[in-house]
Amino acid sequence: MNYASTRNSSLKVTSAHAIVKGLSDEGGLYVPESVPALSKEEILGLCDKSYVERAYTVFSKFLTDFTDAELRHCVESAYNTKNFDTDNIAEIAKLKDGKFILELWHGPTCAFKDMALQILPYLLTTSAKKEVDGKQIAILVATSGDTGKAALEGFKDVPGTSISVFYPDDGVSPMQKRQMTTQDGNNVNVCAVKGNFDDCQNGVKAIFTDKEIEKKLAEKNVLLSSANSINWGRLAPQIIYYISTYAQLVKDGDIAYGDKVNIVVPTGNFGNILAAYYAKLMGIPVNKLICASNSNNVLTDFINTGVYDRNRKFYTTISPSMDILISSNLERLLYHLTGENSALINEWFDALKTSGRYEVGDDVKKQLSELFYAGCCSDGETKAQIHKTFTEEKYLLDTHSAVAVKVYEDYRAATGDTAKTIIASTANPYKFGRAVYSAVGGKADTEDEFELISHLEQETGTTMPAPLAATKDKAVRFKNTVEKQEMGSVVLDFLNG
Ligand SMILES: *Cc1c(COP(=O)(O)O)cnc(C)c1O
Repeated sequence: MNYASTRNSSLKVTSAHAIVKGLSDEGGLYVPESVPALSKEEILGLCDKSYVERAYTVFSKFLTDFTDAELRHCVESAYNTKNFDTDNIAEIAKLKDGKFILELWHGPTCAFKDMALQILPYLLTTSAKKEVDGKQIAILVATSGDTGKAALEGFKDVPGTSISVFYPDDGVSPMQKRQMTTQDGNNVNVCAVKGNFDDCQNGVKAIFTDKEIEKKLAEKNVLLSSANSINWGRLAPQIIYYISTYAQLVKDGDIAYGDKVNIVVPTGNFGNILAAYYAKLMGIPVNKLICASNSNNVLTDFINTGVYDRNRKFYTTISPSMDILISSNLERLLYHLTGENSALINEWFDALKTSGRYEVGDDVKKQLSELFYAGCCSDGETKAQIHKTFTEEKYLLDTHSAVAVKVYEDYRAATGDTAKTIIASTANPYKFGRAVYSAVGGKADTEDEFELISHLEQETGTTMPAPLAATKDKAVRFKNTVEKQEMGSVVLDFLNG
């Protein structure tokens, strides 16, 4: 199995190469040259397997340049109860009307990013041994809150690596900020940027393509790599939980093999929902992929009209991990939907860069409307959904998962479709305690995050996960805030220091 680039379909590299590089030289994203299929027998065979075995099966189709022993080492080191608070790794909460809430937040940072970032360091160090043995890997991350912390936890003190994380000042929740600024480990750096997530992401992309920086780092035997969801090593692990959940629901008797399910994903950078698309291509019977957005609804408009236009107001919402106007992974979807036409992809993404807008052709529009349903909701509607689901079903949603449930309910009302539905729950509610508390009717009149959380616990009968509680007594290590033009020197200073 080889990988091409969305901007150059004739490129052929191994998965190890794609994982080490993150982004290809001409700025494209690595994509599998074909998507491997799972037969009915293979999917049924997963029903009685553990998460580790399910992960192994999926990875062995995509990472064909890894040996069996290497793959086993990766999946066993990541998906265990040292890192996750459940044997199942992901849990399924079964709510009424055929809603299956796929809880992807049982890892060390309580957000779904752990599902990929617990394994990425193993995939990356294994790949680096094959590709660039002896080089020091410097990971750069732009984060809207959750990726940063998950990447820090994944990479802290991993030999041969270091990690620099940039987050938008005022663009993350107090708990997210606390989690990142109290991070331990000897190879980590965390820095706030004056700007929004797109500024952080553009800043990181600029560092990647800066020849001057590359040269300086090469002299020190350092190679830059990415832990953002543009890295194939982030995306591949996300395909697994959709396949695993389908097998689990068959095993539990909630669906029969062959039943089509909807998959709803609260979407930002388009990585998680793209993984669901790959799961569908691999053979999981999917009816609609439902793309849920908050007020930053550029994807809703795109899926409904075929026009991607980022020239719009940027909103800071209570679901900050979805506050994004440039969804990087959409490029991979479009590459597949255009029949791997990298010339068209170059044209559209050049237009996006220069004018902030592009429009796809009728053929792609048609495919989009067949594959996807897209919707969005406001902060008010998100809070109302948290309240409703808690009152009616005694289930506490976080602000991102609530966007997904709300958009799903709109979909169901609009279409009458009653197919069983997997809803990705991407964060534990305690990561966004203030908004969740006020949504369930609490009076958030204290500045103290932990005092507020103890009210939330008492009034909902739920408990804060241990990793979040642990941040209470940790000292803040990282206090730096910089302009976006300064990000390159932050990286160089850290790596020189
Ligand atoms: C990252 C994140 C999202 C968005 O996922 P994408 O893969 O970027 O679309 C949604 N919810 C939470 C809690 C997240 O951390």
